[in-house]
Amino acid sequence: MRIYSIINGKDLKETDRETMTVRNPYNQEEVAEVVLANVEDLNQAVDQGFATFHEQMKNMPAYERSDILRKTADLLEERKASFAETITKEAGKPLKHSLGEVERSIQVLRFASEHAKHISSEVIPMDAAIGGENRLGFTKRKPLGVVAAITPFNFPLNLSLHKIAPAIAAGNTVIYKPAEKTPVSAYKLVKLFFEAGLPAGALHLIMGRGEVVGDPLVQHDKIHKVTFTGSLPVGRGILEKAGFKKVTLELGSNSPNIVFDDIDIGHVAADLVKGAFVFSGQVCISAQRVYVHQSIYDAFLKEYIRQTESLVIGDPMEETTEFGPMINEKEAERAKTWIDDAVKKGARIETGGEQKGTFLFPTIMTNVNNDMKVIAEEVFAPIVSVIPFETEDEVVRMSNDSIYGLQAGVFTNDLNRALRVADQLEMGGVWINEISTYRQDNHPYGGVKKSGIGKEGVKYAVEDMTEVKFVGINLNEKR
Ligand code: NAD
Repeated sequence: MRIYSIINGKDLKETDRETMTVRNPYNQEEVAEVVLANVEDLNQAVDQGFATFHEQMKNMPAYERSDILRKTADLLEERKASFAETITKEAGKPLKHSLGEVERSIQVLRFASEHAKHISSEVIPMDAAIGGENRLGFTKRKPLGVVAAITPFNFPLNLSLHKIAPAIAAGNTVIYKPAEKTPVSAYKLVKLFFEAGLPAGALHLIMGRGEVVGDPLVQHDKIHKVTFTGSLPVGRGILEKAGFKKVTLELGSNSPNIVFDDIDIGHVAADLVKGAFVFSGQVCISAQRVYVHQSIYDAFLKEYIRQTESLVIGDPMEETTEFGPMINEKEAERAKTWIDDAVKKGARIETGGEQKGTFLFPTIMTNVNNDMKVIAEEVFAPIVSVIPFETEDEVVRMSNDSIYGLQAGVFTNDLNRALRVADQLEMGGVWINEISTYRQDNHPYGGVKKSGIGKEGVKYAVEDMTEVKFVGINLNEKR
């Protein structure tokens, strides 16, 4: 399979462009050959996106934008199995989790389709100000223009839709730069939008290496907003380079999960096996630090190890597989060096710790501290650390002792305690009796501290992808 950038609805089949091979992380088979775009291609896409915004999208009625999004959802639903297979082949994600991702993506499109019709305005109480009598004031939410959407490999479909769908719902045009590692689902997705009736100039797909097309994209004068999901170093660079543009950054974390002593150990251990090891820990809100009350620490750890060791590991294309490879061998090796570094500093491996090719086996560590990367940095790998605590204050302090603050989980049946802790955690979101790894696509989502800037979740992304315009009328006398 050969795939291309798509500019103005057409595959960019130039023969003199650099190409790149995408391989299945499980068996290294070729999934696709990608023809990469260069900077001139990117500039052409932005020019077309700019023209289509002014000529079509900014004046397209809400019901039409809503229709296109609904039809895209319907088409994705029809081709659910094919999209799930693509994600599994290019990302190595176990098939059942890929299917889950496609189902969530359909919902995101449907939320966007509905929300397109509810981007509402406000009437301002003008007579609240002296001299405001007989004046009418109201707002309109206007689309921004051309939105650059830059996405990571780990949820190639759903995280792309968290940007593209609200941008279209609001009447923007989009330049979409997917992760190099997972371009096939991106290519298929863009084709779906056109099949559903999106104007050719409203969405352009740029296949390209971040370090080649990234800077010219985020620095381009005709780009009005950059929405990025990915790692902290890349996000920081984007913020520095974007200049006079709106920027949303959805970055990493080392999410804490707090387990108090009044819970059912078997149940919470099962939740946290999922929380730490789903998609081999390559989830931004993966459970990385598990704080367990010392009175149940030994019993919890024993059960957590037992359940972790019963995960079904293997070929991600098998329907029964629960745990598969990481995205590539380099990442698995990088994570293994973090384990070795922690062990050198006194950490213990309770289970796992081995790496073979793209597989890093589910790893639980104890006796860890903040001098170790497995605690202080984002591991983005199947490594979880279990840490005892004594008091509520202590565990809140330990949880907040991080440069990140994306999402946390708190397990307790004591409602007052749960709400107190949720209030004190420095996070963009807190789940009570749920893993940090859980996300629903309609709640506000986005981090504090170095985990990011801005919020996603269709309604909230639309707010960030529109500008409030005020219109006032002086009704005092005719002019
Ligand atoms: P990454 O930062 O390596 O790449 C993300 C995207 O940025 C890719 O499309 C890449 O090509 C592009 N890029 C690279 N250099 C660029 C540059 N100079 N300018 C512009 N774009 C550039 O991230 P990844 O490895 O694909 O994904 C993993 C990271 O994403 C983790 O840190 C994870 O926490 C984060 N993530 C965050 C969320 C969230 O919602 N907060 C969700 C998923 C993943």
